[in-house]
Formats: sequence, C-alpha cells, structure tokens
Amino acid sequence: MQKILNYIDGNLLEPSTGQYLDNINPATAEVYSLCPNSDASDVELAYQAAAAAFPIWSEMPTAKRSKIMMRIAQLIEQNIDELALAESIDQGKPLWLAKNGEIPRAQENFHFFATAIEHFASEAHAMGAHALNYTLRTPIGVVACISPWNLPLYLFTWKIAPALAAGNCVVAKPSEITPMTAFLLSKICIEAGLPKGVLNIVHGLGPSVGSAMVAHPNISVISFTGGTKTGAEIARVAAPMFKKLSLELGGKNPNIIFADCDFEKTVKESVRASFTNQGEICLCGSRIYVERSIYEKFKTAFVSQVQQLVVGDPLLDETKVGAIASKMHFEKVLGYIELAKEEGGTILCGGNAVSPEGRCANGYFIAPTVVEGLGHLCRTNQEEIFGPLVTIQPFDTEAEVLEMANSTSYGLACTIWTENLNKAHRVAAQIKSGIVWINCWLLRDLRTPFGGMKQSGVGREGGWEALRFFTEMKNVCVKF
Ligand code: NDP
Repeated sequence: MQKILNYIDGNLLEPSTGQYLDNINPATAEVYSLCPNSDASDVELAYQAAAAAFPIWSEMPTAKRSKIMMRIAQLIEQNIDELALAESIDQGKPLWLAKNGEIPRAQENFHFFATAIEHFASEAHAMGAHALNYTLRTPIGVVACISPWNLPLYLFTWKIAPALAAGNCVVAKPSEITPMTAFLLSKICIEAGLPKGVLNIVHGLGPSVGSAMVAHPNISVISFTGGTKTGAEIARVAAPMFKKLSLELGGKNPNIIFADCDFEKTVKESVRASFTNQGEICLCGSRIYVERSIYEKFKTAFVSQVQQLVVGDPLLDETKVGAIASKMHFEKVLGYIELAKEEGGTILCGGNAVSPEGRCANGYFIAPTVVEGLGHLCRTNQEEIFGPLVTIQPFDTEAEVLEMANSTSYGLACTIWTENLNKAHRVAAQIKSGIVWINCWLLRDLRTPFGGMKQSGVGREGGWEALRFFTEMKNVCVKF
C-alpha cells in the first residue's frame, strides 16, 4: 500500500505518531493509500524548519526566487498526466476535468505569482516639497496555508504560490481526504531545488494538524479555504492572538436568468455551473432563478440536458459527473435530497444514489438532481449543500429576484444571464457577493480579487491582493 509522507525541512518523513489514516478512492470505496495522521509535534518540526529557512528565502533576490518557482510550474506541466490521474482517483472528479482544468491551473498559479512578484511595487506619497512617505512591503515570516478537498492541488497552490513569491516560508496542510497531489508536489519541489524548509507540508486531520497551525504562537498569518463553520473556529482561536487572516468560505450562489438571455448558451452554461466537479465547487450556482415568461421552456431544456450527463467511472472520457469525494459527504448530500422532499420540493430529475456497473459499483455516486417548488427561505435554499443538487424557481420582477438572491447568509458568487447590458450592470451592482459573472461562469483572470462577502469570507485572494496579504506594510516618512 502506497504511503504518503510529510514534507518537512526538505525531507519526506513519516509522521512522528507513526500513525496513518486510510485514503479512500471514492469511485470504488476502496482504501488505496495511507495518509499520515500527524500531530502538533510534526507542525512544530515544520515550523522550526520554516523559521530556519526564512532568512535565506526572504533575502534571496526576487529573480532567483521567481526562477525556482517557474521550475516548479514547469515540472507540474511535465507531470500533468500523473498529477491528473492522482487527483481524479483521490477526489472522484472526471480525469478529463483534472487534466484540462485543475492541474493546468495549479501550474498557472505558480507561473502567475512567480512572474507577478517581479512587477510588485509599493506606493509613495509626496507631501508637497517638504516630505515624502514611502511604503515598504516585506515578507512576514512563517505563514500557514490550509486548503479543502474539492479542488485539491488548484486551491493548495493558489495559496502557497503567492506566499512563497512574497518571500515567506510556509507550513501547509491539504485536506486529509485528498492528500495525494500535495504529496506529489513535495517531490516536485525537491526536484526543482526549492531550498529545504521553505515549504513544509504536514498531512493529517483538521482538529489535530490544522488547529495546531492556527494556535501556533509564532505563525502569525493564516490563509484558509474551507467551510464557514471551520472558518469561524479559526477566527475564534486566531482573534485574541491578533493573527492576520484570509478566510475563503462557503457559498450558496444564485444563478439569475432573465427572459432576454441567449437561451441556448444559458441552458448549456447553467448545466456546467450546476454540476461541474459534481457541484463540489464553492462557485457553483445552486439556486437557479428564471424569469417567469421563459420558466417552463428553460426548465424543460435544462432538465433534459441534465438527464444526459453521464454519471460514473471518473477515468472514462464520457463521464461528466464523477464520484462524491467521501462517504460522509455522499451521505450529507443524500440527506439534503430527503430534506428538499420534506420541505415540499418536487424532484425533476435525479434524487438518488447511482451504482455504476463494473469496478465503481460500490462508489459514492449521486445522479445530478434538480428540485422545484421550494420557497427561497427554506433550508434547502439557504444552506450550502456543495453537491450535485440545484433548485429552480421562477421570478417576476428584478426587485423580487434581488431579494431572493441576497436572502442567504452567504455572498460568494452570482451569475446573471441577459442580453440587456443596462439590466446586467444594474443587477450586478445590487448583488451582495464578491464575484459576479455576466453571461459566463468561472471565467477567471488571476489578477482579479477573489473572495466573498458576508459569511463567505474575509479578505480577497488573487493578483496584488494576495501579494499584499502575504507582506507586512510599513510607512516611512522623511522630512526634507
Ligand atoms: P473544512 O472546513 O471541513 O476543511 C477545510 C480544511 O480545514 C481541511 O484541510 C480541514 O482538514 C481543515 N480543518 C478542519 N478543522 C480545522 C480546524 N479546527 N483548524 C484548522 N483547520 C481545520 O472544508 P471542506 O474540506 O469540507 O471543504 C468544503 C468547504 O470549502 C465548502 O464549504 C466550500 O464552500 C468551501 N470552499 C470555499 C472556497 C472559496 O474559495 N470560498 C473554495 C473551495 C471550497 P480535514 O479535511 O483534515 O478535516
């Protein structure tokens, strides 16, 4: 059985506990590798290694730091087949999706921040001819990066790359549900010549490894992506220690469809926005609001396309919906399907677990599910489900759809479909979310600020925002 190892001080190490967790392939429900069940002593080792490496890394000329990161990007690209296969097996996503979306994006994350740091500058404020203020931005020290299981390498590198580019050393924890590509990344870092201790990856459970990172007295910066409840717990522990926090949390995103949309494109893209990666993307649109005059037509076309999505073996090209990432999450999503029925919803398609023929018969599969007939304030329409379940409901006026769209405690992303640009901008301005897509979904420019409002998070990732987050600011005022 393959053993995943921690990456500490440039070495691949067993956890100090000597204990391992079963790592399960969700498409077969079989244990296929072992993940270290590390604890606070491994986090301490990682911290010591990172602290020792900090002077070397932070003082290294930017161009040299950038070159090492570019080498990591190159090696991700060269190993795309191995990484994509590993991600698909570990997470359950279709192999083609890992190969065309997730792993290339991990490469881009390293490439983007390796180049961005060479153009990063700070401000100066002249006070007439009498004085000048200039702002210094310096690396902070040892930072913690904690990521979830839905887009494992994509989100892991989205944090690590800006932290490293800005000159910090990192202690990182991937989700114990999907640790494999982070392990492969540690081997890539060794091959790329990343100095020892600059990046340390400690595998294990959130309550033991993650919480030790958050509580560590000398790790003053935490970048976290995950659920809102976990984010609240991290904030509770970190606040009295005055740590700097970036929290990218849950979502319950509205997908607003006006009658004057480009109909064919909207149906097709709404299917993608609902069920890509089994609906396990924080940006998926899970509440579809359709203007009443096209409601029936849209519903029929949408459900018909959803029913054509092939659910099954993630390794097959024709599969559009793979396995749910874990048994626990599989049961959670099925529980929400029952709740939707109890709340009076009608299942238009899906609504059941699927057992594909062959090697995946015992895997965690759920048919893409569309529910109608629910009020916007019921639990199904308020709570994050994070799976292949969407609701659909009609609306009559702009004011009504805005009220429904803004009615949840989340505010991550929103999608608007209309050919009327005045309306699109008007609605976009009134939507309470950190990201609004007009006539597209998941179109990402890595320079843009990424993150949510309300309980979807605090702070923004991406572009200069990420480099600013991972640097300490100092104003120097000189009087002439
Ligand atoms: P969790 O919050 O359960 O876990 C996220 C990470 O935090 C995991 O590595 C987890 O470890 C770790 N963790 C758990 N408890 C603690 C703790 N007390 N202290 C420190 N770390 C801890 O989220 P999921 O992994 O279930 O991911 C799904 C969630 O992530 C959804 O809510 C989704 O919306 C959100 N998400 C948000 C995104 C955004 O950009 N806003 C993007 C993608 C996902 P372990 O897994 O080992 O328990």
